[in-house]
Amino acid sequence: MTECDEFSFETRLLHNQHKIDPTTGAVSVPIQHASTYHQFSIDQFGKYDYSRSLNPTREALEDVIAELEGGIKGFAFSSGMAAISTAFLLLSSGDHVVITEDVYGGTYRMVTEVLSRFGIEHTFVDMTNIDQVKKAIKQNTKAFYIETPSNPLLKVTDIKEICNLAKKVKALTFVDNTFLTPALQRPLELGADVVLHSATKFLSGHSDVIAGLAVVKDEKLAKKLGFLQNSFGAILGVQDAWLVLRGIKTLHVRLEQSQNSAIKLAAFLQTHPLVKRVYYPALVNHPQNYLQKAQAEGPGAVLSFELESEEAVRLFVKNVKLPVFAVSLGAVESILSYPAKMSHAAMPQAEREKRGITNTLLRLSVGLESPDDLIKDFSTALTHILTNQLVFQQGE
Ligand SMILES: *Cc1c(COP(=O)(O)O)cnc(C)c1O
Repeated sequence: MTECDEFSFETRLLHNQHKIDPTTGAVSVPIQHASTYHQFSIDQFGKYDYSRSLNPTREALEDVIAELEGGIKGFAFSSGMAAISTAFLLLSSGDHVVITEDVYGGTYRMVTEVLSRFGIEHTFVDMTNIDQVKKAIKQNTKAFYIETPSNPLLKVTDIKEICNLAKKVKALTFVDNTFLTPALQRPLELGADVVLHSATKFLSGHSDVIAGLAVVKDEKLAKKLGFLQNSFGAILGVQDAWLVLRGIKTLHVRLEQSQNSAIKLAAFLQTHPLVKRVYYPALVNHPQNYLQKAQAEGPGAVLSFELESEEAVRLFVKNVKLPVFAVSLGAVESILSYPAKMSHAAMPQAEREKRGITNTLLRLSVGLESPDDLIKDFSTALTHILTNQLVFQQGE
């Protein structure tokens, strides 16, 4: 904990223990490229010896994220998947994980195709259904894996409820906090043991770096995860650590602007006759609207929506001008993606459809464009669907 604890989150994004470099007064964390460090005495080695184990630039990022998540130790990895995969190495052969069914596609692949080969079992559940979660518990259940709001259907899991359940069976709770970041949700305060991030998304925020983070609040767990980070070695490079540190400084303003625009866009889409359904926790008809309000400080800036047909999706994507059509989310520019063929391509079609990730679903991560411009752009693209349908009907 630092002297800045008394300040609000947005102030703490800028004023933390790494605000000023103690040797030079530099107001930006220096990028330390050295892989190894001279030891001045044969009897006593310094704090740094080799940069896989500890590097001052990476350490600054690890300190910053730990403080923002309310943990005691942070770890920076070369990608979100590296952070998630390393955290899974806390488990051993014979252990069982209860995991949310609409988990990120890469995590799905890791659990089903890699961990399974090492004897780590899993059961997918709808985490919003506590009875289903309870039924999935086995004698060897050692971890619960939550993603909330989930990807891409924005289902909200009661973090506290799952953590309490996990504690009863002496299992750990992992929470992927990529969608909300500590600006809006702090799972450790709700009882979670490990918070995970794809820092590629909102934390860095500019679609220019791949990075992952993990934070814990328990000393023993910190030792274990630190040992695994050093053993597996999937650490974040120093240039990338610096980019994430810089991105974090503007996290609050970016997320606030994007979230406000997302609220407007969701309202627009929900009343549009060509939009079948909108998934966004801020909507009063979202099944966990109340829960999102209780456990997070906002609904976030990602929403999904369904159109009537695959043809409509095709026409919409072809005609929409502002968002980039791409995988990923949480950037300054709006990103429109097609989960069936992008984030969830690793999931077999039958599994996808069972989870409601249909071929008519689009996901939108709202960026920093003017919300009015985005609405205008979407409105025009939706009109193209209508015009096309009319032309088609006349042609018949
Ligand atoms: C992108 C993402 C990941 C994976 O992170 P990478 O940085 O791409 O490895 C994990 N979880 C969620 C929710 C994501 O959006």
